[in-house]
Amino acid sequence: MDGSKTPVTAPVLILLGPPGAGKGTQARMLEDRHGLVQLSTGDLLRAAVAAGTPAGQRAKAVMEAGDLVSDEIVIAILSDRLADADCVRGVILDGFPRTTVQAEALDALLQATSQRINAAISLEVDDAAMVDRISGRFTCGGCGEGYHDTFKPTAKPGVCDHCGSTEMKRRADDNAETVAQRLAAYHAQTAPLIDYYAGQGALSRIPAMGAIDEIATALESVVAQATA
Ligand code: ADP
Ligand code: ZN
Repeated sequence: MDGSKTPVTAPVLILLGPPGAGKGTQARMLEDRHGLVQLSTGDLLRAAVAAGTPAGQRAKAVMEAGDLVSDEIVIAILSDRLADADCVRGVILDGFPRTTVQAEALDALLQATSQRINAAISLEVDDAAMVDRISGRFTCGGCGEGYHDTFKPTAKPGVCDHCGSTEMKRRADDNAETVAQRLAAYHAQTAPLIDYYAGQGALSRIPAMGAIDEIATALESVVAQATA
C-alpha cells in the first residue's frame, strides 16, 4: 500500500457468547438486513462431518462430546471460507474465534488483507437458561431458519414459515449432557476473549436475555456505530 488512500474495507463483526446465546439467530438477521455473510464455524464443521472430509472425520467425536475442535482444523476451515468471493461484502463471525489462538490467527488473517474488526459483540446471558434454550431448538433443513419449541415455534406445526419445508433437523449435540460440557468449554476457553477484545477497544456488550427483536434492535445500533 502506498498510503495515499485509505482502503474502504467491508465490515467484520464478531458475535461472542455461550452456546444458546442466540448468535446464529442474530447473525442471520444481520445477514438479511445488511447483506453481510454469516460465517459459522459450527455450520462449516457440521458440513465437513456430513461430507466425511478428513477434517470432518477428526471433528465428529469431539463435537459430540461438547469439546472444542482443534485450533488447527478450525482456523484452516475458516480461512478457506473467508477467502471466498462473497465475503468481500463483509462478514459476521458466529462461533469463531473461540480461543485466544484463534483470535490471534484472525488478527493475522485480517492484517494480511488490510481489514480490521469493526466490533466484537458479546451477547450476555444467564447460563442457567441456556440448557432450556438449546434443548428445544431445531432448524429447517430447507432454508436453515432456526426455531424453538417454546420460544420460536413455527406458525404451522412441522412446516417452515419461510420456505414451507417439512424437513426439520435437531443437532446431535443439543442434549443436556453435551450442553453442560459446551458451557464449560465456553467459560474456560472462549470467555477470556471478552477481555481480549476489550483490550483492543472493539468490545460491545448487549444484554441478550430478552426477546429476539429487542436484542436485534440493540445489536443494530452497535452495528450502525461500528460500521459508520
Ligand atoms: P454452539 O455455539 O451452539 O455450541 P456451534 O454450532 O457454534 O454451536 O458449534 C458446535 C460445535 O462445533 C462446538 O461445540 C465445537 O465442538 C465445534 N466448534 C464450532 N466452532 C468452533 C471453533 N471456533 N473452535 C473449536 N470448535 C468449534
Ligand atoms: Zn425453511
